[in-house]
Amino acid sequence: MSASSRILADSARYFPGGVNSPVRAFRAVGGTPVVAREGHGSTVTDADGRRYVDYVGSWGALILGHTHADVVSAVSSAAARGTSFGMPTASEADLARLIIQSVPSVERIRLVNSGTEAAMSALRLARAYTGRSKIIKFAGCYHGHADLLLAQAGSGLVTLGLPASAGVPPSAIADTLVLPYNDLSSVTTAFAEHPGAIAAVIVEPVAANMGVVRPRPGFLSGLRDLTADDGALLVFDEVITGFRLGRGGAQSRYGVRPDLTCLGKIIGGGLPIGAYGGRAAIMDLLAPNGPVYQAGTLSGNPVAVSAGIATLQRLADGRLYAALEQTAAALADGLADTAASAGVRARVVREASMLTVFFAGREPADFTEAQQADTFAFARFFHAMLRRGVLLPPSQFEAWFVSTAHSAADVEHTVTVAAAAFREAQAA
Ligand code: PLP
Repeated sequence: MSASSRILADSARYFPGGVNSPVRAFRAVGGTPVVAREGHGSTVTDADGRRYVDYVGSWGALILGHTHADVVSAVSSAAARGTSFGMPTASEADLARLIIQSVPSVERIRLVNSGTEAAMSALRLARAYTGRSKIIKFAGCYHGHADLLLAQAGSGLVTLGLPASAGVPPSAIADTLVLPYNDLSSVTTAFAEHPGAIAAVIVEPVAANMGVVRPRPGFLSGLRDLTADDGALLVFDEVITGFRLGRGGAQSRYGVRPDLTCLGKIIGGGLPIGAYGGRAAIMDLLAPNGPVYQAGTLSGNPVAVSAGIATLQRLADGRLYAALEQTAAALADGLADTAASAGVRARVVREASMLTVFFAGREPADFTEAQQADTFAFARFFHAMLRRGVLLPPSQFEAWFVSTAHSAADVEHTVTVAAAAFREAQAA
């Protein structure tokens, strides 16, 4: 029995489905999960010593790749000073400063432990600020697993084909309106039908949980105008796009300023973190200043914060984003050419350093279109790549993440092996 099989057998005994987060179980592609032993730069080595070029990147958190020297050193020295205090520390303010200097709409911020907490708390705050209850979200956008947001969410819920989740009472999503992504007219209609009742519109400014789906020109600025006109708040969930699409995230790239922003992933450098922030007038409603309660034993954890600081400091070197863009473009172009040569119906959709290869004839604009992709072809492609040493996110509806550690040689290897993998994907 291989080391991986042994670990998976143990895990199956201890954890529901053998995992601690559903997509890791490979249900969308079949087969058995890769058991990670260690990661360095662009690669992950499994428990049996097989090495893969990794495009999961801890689901987008590891923009500098695995075990970046700055991050490892920051984490070990922070841990040596104390792993948790439950008191204010200097490093929390250092991380906040780095974020506030980079993300245009954030004047004040609250650190939490996950993206889920960030989105859930931002919406509680939006409801309190506006005195309204209804929330608009978009089908295929994932904002974590808080009850009120588990309505037509993307990510693992697409993978598992669950329309929502069991255990979420209808009352929890009674005020959640789910509309098609990229469809401004349905947002206009919703505001007309519910005047003065909508607290917030929450959106992934570039969607990455139904595969990468880009906003149409005018979609984000249209949301800004509609929310402002009605007195609702615009919440950008930049848990993935924050510090991924550039230091200022999607809001800088698209020049649209939301009222509240959710962050996570990259700002923790691979350790558990989340954050939400925005205009001071809104954020100051949070306890202890105001009546909106939200708290956390490990919030602002010094070890997580140190990894985030090391990551953001490294990203201050603007050349890194230019290099990332170049690497990701070479990868996307190479994959598109290879698919075309193999005669495969595939569209490579890329935004900065995240991309999805949709096994579909055209670029999707929303969840319905994304779901038309051939998930069986993707599963065959996934396994053909895995056998050749390339680890992709194990679902058609997730983004691949390129890190600053991916080299031209990694890209070349990926594109080369993709030729055979596309042929295998098609041969069914
Ligand atoms: N928001 C977005 C856009 C995400 O992609 C995710 C997770 O993938 C979340 C929120 C939830 O974050 P977490 O998994 O840290 O709770």
